[in-house]
Amino acid sequence: APLGTATNSSGNKVTVATIWLDGCSGCHMSFLDMDERLVELAQKIDIVYSPLVDCKTLPEQVDVGIIEGSISNEEDLHKAKLFRERCKLLVSLGDCAVNGNVPAMRNAFKLDNVYERAYLENVNIHPQIPTQGVPALLQTVLPVHAVVDVDVFIPGCPPQADTIHYVLSELLEGRVPEPLRMTRFGA
Ligand code: SF4
Repeated sequence: APLGTATNSSGNKVTVATIWLDGCSGCHMSFLDMDERLVELAQKIDIVYSPLVDCKTLPEQVDVGIIEGSISNEEDLHKAKLFRERCKLLVSLGDCAVNGNVPAMRNAFKLDNVYERAYLENVNIHPQIPTQGVPALLQTVLPVHAVVDVDVFIPGCPPQADTIHYVLSELLEGRVPEPLRMTRFGA
């Protein structure tokens, strides 16, 4: 997707959606660490979908989408694609989203061995490999930009609240922060 600015698609405020995929929620905690600056941001943005708010249906059109976490299972993949489809500008937040980080440590092992370790060897009560009710793991954990185009990368584990604030402030001014702006890996 071409880079764009966070112009408004709904009322006067810029709409923002956030999601965590295979992450620990620490990146979202950093978002909250913007503390009193959140009050100022709330004048300018509407969080329309996020684990941080009650809205649990992703609107058809969103100005800025923020993804925490890597793509580790089929559900992550589906949600990342949905975010890309519906968000004008997509932000990859934190090292898990940017490079796979902790979840990608399993990439050194075969998927069968990962299942066995998690569901058989480390379990005392009813050890069993789930066949339903749990999204199937992908063979390899991937960063977000490996499956969808990303417009802005915010690295860090977790990223600093100051960095998140800087990026959001720039987007609200209609600018994409240059050092954090990259094209899709390998493109
Ligand atoms: Fe947690 Fe760090 Fe991953 Fe963010 S980047 S989800 S803080 S492990």
